[in-house]
Amino acid sequence: MRKGNLFIVSGASGVGKSTVLQKVMESDKQLRFSVSATTRPPRPGETDGVEYYFVNAEQFNEMIAKGEFLEYNEHNKAMYGTPIAQLEEKLRDGDVILDIEPYGAFAVKEKRPDATLIFIVPPSQEELERRLWGRGDTSLEQITMRLERAKWEMEQQDRYDFVVVNDTVQECADRILHIIAAKADME
Ligand code: 5GP
Repeated sequence: MRKGNLFIVSGASGVGKSTVLQKVMESDKQLRFSVSATTRPPRPGETDGVEYYFVNAEQFNEMIAKGEFLEYNEHNKAMYGTPIAQLEEKLRDGDVILDIEPYGAFAVKEKRPDATLIFIVPPSQEELERRLWGRGDTSLEQITMRLERAKWEMEQQDRYDFVVVNDTVQECADRILHIIAAKADME
């Protein structure tokens, strides 16, 4: 049975990645989203098993010990990991999207060289800063931390297969959908 293709999407905090990915998933009903496990608490509106599997540190460590992750990493004082079993299962059905940060992305690419890495960038650095401030829920310390992290993430973009600009959500989603369609055409 032909397996689906794996697409890994990363982008700096504040770049609007979740909104873009939502649009991508809405437009291509065949695509599946790989649900990561995390120790961070759910945000309002998030549901266990949809955005993430919300687990505690003990459960996460148990999953590590059992070798259940394709990769895992710490981010913002929480753990995030890609469970292998559900990813394999989804790949049997078709194409799968992973929303993970660069360290995780490179770890997956090493194990699955056929994975396509896509990096979302903001239209400009000013726009990224404006969006980060616009979130309104964050202290100066958190903003500074996010900006530093965003700077580092932006420096990783050359290691990705594709870089797409998020000027508007629709256009950015369309670019990602084209990449996914082009990969399918290559087979
Ligand atoms: P958030 O907490 O805002 O949903 O995600 C924070 C960061 O963790 C994002 O950059 C997201 O891409 C990343 N992330 C989500 N799931 C995983 C995962 O399974 N592994 C890794 N390495 N990063 C992840």
